[in-house]
Amino acid sequence: MLVAGLGLAASMVLHLAALFGLAPLLLSPLGSDAQALHMALIMGIFVVWLPAVLLGHRLNTTGNTRPSIQQMLAGCPTWMQYGFFAIFGYAVLNFFISLSGRSPGDDGLVQELRLVTGHAMLFYGIAFGSFYSVLNRPGLLAPRYCPAGHKVGHEDHFCAVCGLPAPRDGQQP
Ligand SMILES: [Zn+2]
Repeated sequence: MLVAGLGLAASMVLHLAALFGLAPLLLSPLGSDAQALHMALIMGIFVVWLPAVLLGHRLNTTGNTRPSIQQMLAGCPTWMQYGFFAIFGYAVLNFFISLSGRSPGDDGLVQELRLVTGHAMLFYGIAFGSFYSVLNRPGLLAPRYCPAGHKVGHEDHFCAVCGLPAPRDGQQP
């Protein structure tokens, strides 16, 4: 979770730098370390993404084949969930803007940085969100059942199979 938080912060800073043309200023004192930083950012995504996906599968208690991002973020406060959807929308937008061309005076590095950090923010953000989610609502990891024993999603108030009201989190029938 610490790695996810740090990665989110680092990719946001680098992304803003690339956006406002400050990237050369920030990266040139680093010299060859800039490339290492770039690689670390990408490697970090894999480090945090694997546990996030595994966690997503445990949070998926409705029996769907894939966990949804809503399920992964179910334990986050509403403002945080909106924040993640904003980052998601932005990452898609950024992808197309970055592909459409580079700004004047750019040797391609800044464009690449924008593209990579735009996606890095998304992956780190969702990973951070799902870790936070579980810390905030540990009950999300336990499966939930209706009084008749069918599996019910954590956000459902009624069983989809029999229609009985589902117990609240933490109450088992
Ligand atoms: Zn039921």
